Amino acid sequence: MQNNLITGGAGFIGSHLAEYLLEQGQRVVVVDDLSTGSLDNIKHLRSRREFGFVQGTVLNRTLVDSLTANTDRVFHLAAAVGVDLIVKNPARVIETNILGTETVLAVCAEYKVPVFIASTSEVYGKSEKMPFREDDDIVLGPTSKSRWSYACSKAIDEFLALAYHESRGLPAVVGRFFNTAGPRQTGQYGMVVPRFVGQALAGEPITVYGSGEQTRCFCHVRDVVSAVAKLIETPAAYGQVFNLGSRESVSMNELAARVKARTESSSKITHVPFEEAYVSGFEDIVAREPDITKARQAVDFEPRHTLDEILTDVIASVRSRTSQPDNATL
Ligand code: UDP
Repeated sequence: MQNNLITGGAGFIGSHLAEYLLEQGQRVVVVDDLSTGSLDNIKHLRSRREFGFVQGTVLNRTLVDSLTANTDRVFHLAAAVGVDLIVKNPARVIETNILGTETVLAVCAEYKVPVFIASTSEVYGKSEKMPFREDDDIVLGPTSKSRWSYACSKAIDEFLALAYHESRGLPAVVGRFFNTAGPRQTGQYGMVVPRFVGQALAGEPITVYGSGEQTRCFCHVRDVVSAVAKLIETPAAYGQVFNLGSRESVSMNELAARVKARTESSSKITHVPFEEAYVSGFEDIVAREPDITKARQAVDFEPRHTLDEILTDVIASVRSRTSQPDNATL
């Protein structure tokens, strides 16, 4: 039985990874500072003997050290994420992402523990070469636009992970998450699928930003976490970066229409200019689509859930959340 440490394990993706590893008969310890993560995400796991939770930050090296000393591998998902936070508090984003990852990598190198580093499709920036391949150039905007600090901080995390692999022999693998969706995701930090579903179920206007012609590929979180678990078990993947996402592209106009139809909502679909939706200086990405050949070759990665299945799951999840208003206090 393997011991796993998941940083950021009370977050949306982290909690699904915890669930997946427990289903595989493994032990899981989650460390999370509950800044954007929530106890609600892991409440169904807390009674399990193979599961442990520690509240704390990855900036605390002593804590990371003591947890890593007792584990077989580390999944580093703790990060400052979400468009709102990035635009409003870039200093916190940069600090958490770079110092946190540096701490995790340094400790993992000390104990020679394999580590998965979560990165993001944001690192491709506004590149227009579609689909994005792991070795493509990255195209970021100016430092005067705080939006790019997130992409830049994650790019540094990747450089750090690859450097630790190269110079210290650390078994480290990087996954670039594209848009991921599924049960328990909250629209609170800007994520569009739960936002549209929440608006549709509440009968509120569904807010499409900009023209709505921008496209994204949404991957079911279950597909993503199984690939993450396989990557860390694949020594040939160490020292490499992998895109993890779906190839099914949809425009935000179509997504809004599909959410409205599937929820049988009477909500209006409205268009909100970007200047109103985000604080000034935010640049939206026109299209984002991964080339997943590399992950397919390394770990047989093939997203199994369609967008319709994702919507079914998210709708059920948002419905159950709104019918149990006291969940947040658990
Ligand atoms: N979006 C939208 N309405 C919302 C929230 C987001 O139209 O209420 C758009 C957003 O501008 C972007 C897309 O949905 O074009 C995906 O946004 P999200 O924040 O989920 O992910 P990311 O921008 O990181 O791809």
